[in-house]
Amino acid sequence: MLLACAALSFAIPETGTRVAALFLINLSAVLSIVVFMGFSGIMTFGHVGFMSLGAYFGAYLTLPTLMKAQFLPGLPGWLVAVDLPVIAAVPVVMLAVGLVAAVIGLSVCRLPTDTAPIATIGVLVIIHGVLIGARDLTRGIQPLFGFEALDGLWLPLGFALFTLGVALVFRVTPTGLKLQASRDNELSAAASGVEVFRVRLIGWTLSAMLIAGSGLLLAHYLTVISPRQFYFVQMFALLAMAIVGGVSTVTGAVVGTGLVTALSEMTRRIEGASWLEAAGLPPLFGLSQLVLAGAILFIMYRRPSGLIAWREPSSRWFARPQARTGPAAADRPAIVPAAADAAPMLEVRGLSKSFAGVRALSDVSFVLHRGETLSLIGPNGSGKTTLVNLVTGVIRPDAGAVFLNGEAITGNAPQMVARKGIARTFQNIRLFETMSVADNVRLAALDVADDPRARAFELLTDLGLADVAQTPAGELAYGRRRRVEIARAVALAPSVLLLDEPTAGMNETESADLADILGQLKARFGLSLLVIEHDQAFVRNLSDRVLVLNQGELIASGTPDEVRRDSRVIEAYLGREAANDYGQEETEDQNQEIATERN
Ligand code: ADP
Ligand code: MG
Repeated sequence: MLLACAALSFAIPETGTRVAALFLINLSAVLSIVVFMGFSGIMTFGHVGFMSLGAYFGAYLTLPTLMKAQFLPGLPGWLVAVDLPVIAAVPVVMLAVGLVAAVIGLSVCRLPTDTAPIATIGVLVIIHGVLIGARDLTRGIQPLFGFEALDGLWLPLGFALFTLGVALVFRVTPTGLKLQASRDNELSAAASGVEVFRVRLIGWTLSAMLIAGSGLLLAHYLTVISPRQFYFVQMFALLAMAIVGGVSTVTGAVVGTGLVTALSEMTRRIEGASWLEAAGLPPLFGLSQLVLAGAILFIMYRRPSGLIAWREPSSRWFARPQARTGPAAADRPAIVPAAADAAPMLEVRGLSKSFAGVRALSDVSFVLHRGETLSLIGPNGSGKTTLVNLVTGVIRPDAGAVFLNGEAITGNAPQMVARKGIARTFQNIRLFETMSVADNVRLAALDVADDPRARAFELLTDLGLADVAQTPAGELAYGRRRRVEIARAVALAPSVLLLDEPTAGMNETESADLADILGQLKARFGLSLLVIEHDQAFVRNLSDRVLVLNQGELIASGTPDEVRRDSRVIEAYLGREAANDYGQEETEDQNQEIATERN
């Protein structure tokens, strides 16, 4: 990048330097957008608004005092007197715009992922409107001029490198990692303890601060600005750069900005070229927009996630070269001796939930004791997943209460429940697909382990996943994906682990292996387990007690054998007709078993 810029400005001194400067300013703007849009997965149109604020706030600091006094009568006296060099104005502008962005972000970042982009359009339109309306502070739609022209490439280059550094570092910080996790899967990020709103707000504000700096540089590059410069056309150009390169990677931003800046510079020249006139053709207005649109469509069609999608070449620099494996599992002492005692770990009292009048769960109560394994069985649609969702705060109960270790946690948000010590897996696996297996697990350990990386690798080793630690989770085969999800849940250092059909889709060997692993994890970490399961062998081998749900009601509970013989359970699974016969057969089977054992 550096070489290309240097070469450009040497090869064609005047124009080359200008194109290189524009490229660098665009690059810092696109990288700023990537910090929010790329890492949170939320499309933003509002950042061009923050870019314009950067330019206008910057004008207050860098325009000559006389200019300000003449053109901006609304400016307070002390601001009129300020006359800073551009480089000193950059951090001030970043702070000021950061403050504005943080206040706006308080509402935007709370919105659901699919409606937030609409709100960001609103942000752009409102900022634009304010710039036009606040005539005494901005000259309205009239151009504001008098900016000192940029001298050479040093400032754009320095700022582009600064944004590049911030983006690369933010990507691997705990907050950056959490933001990317919320992009990949918001629900399981929350279930892993991530406060999605908080990390989004940080990304949003940081991104606005950076782009405000590019806005100020752009003002000094152009020397004349008006609100029109910072509106949809500019926004589409920046989005094109981000999308063409691949918005989720920093490298993609560099490549995309280079390509699109080159493309639009070339087309801009063709648009007004003299040979067009000489050839008797009219000037081609709108050619650059057309070419940009074409480029976006082509990329969307051929490579929907951009030229450099997901895989960040630079991420290797940050990864520890050799995965540190902890001491072998056998050498590690168990954290808590795993003996079921009478203390209730999780208590559910009278939970009820209806969906649009359909009763999914009615008046369910049970206790999960410390160190116990409880299996929850029941036909499809009997409310098992609903129960897990209620306990983990994904949905709110209509009635009833949930206690963890004696503390009421009813209605707490999923990330709160996770932080208090309830981890879960999902019936339809929810991983952070684009993140590496190691990062999936590390994410959950960020706030609970002294060395999250070491803890992640330790768990991956335990679950036989060490060899795929650096593979994106989305590329794994089914059985291993299940294990990653379990490793991630355990990484949260929970006291209660809820597993929603962990062996679904597994063959007998795989589920037997999984039962072994769960037994070991439970013993080592002192977990109390609630497992939703269909596999009979699995239930019998693993569980201390079994709960049976049918049509939202708890119809039986007891040891695996007791429940197996319960006529209501048999009825629920096989229908009333079969109940009597089956009960009889069971008893005969049992006699046979006893006879065999005696022999
Ligand atoms: P299980 O996990 O035992 O198969 P679920 O808890 O998924 O059963 O579903 C119980 C009942 O609640 C089903 O009738 C299902 O259609 C309904 N249900 C579950 N979640 C929702 C939801 N978010 N909206 C509407 N109905 C739901
Ligand atoms: Mg279910």
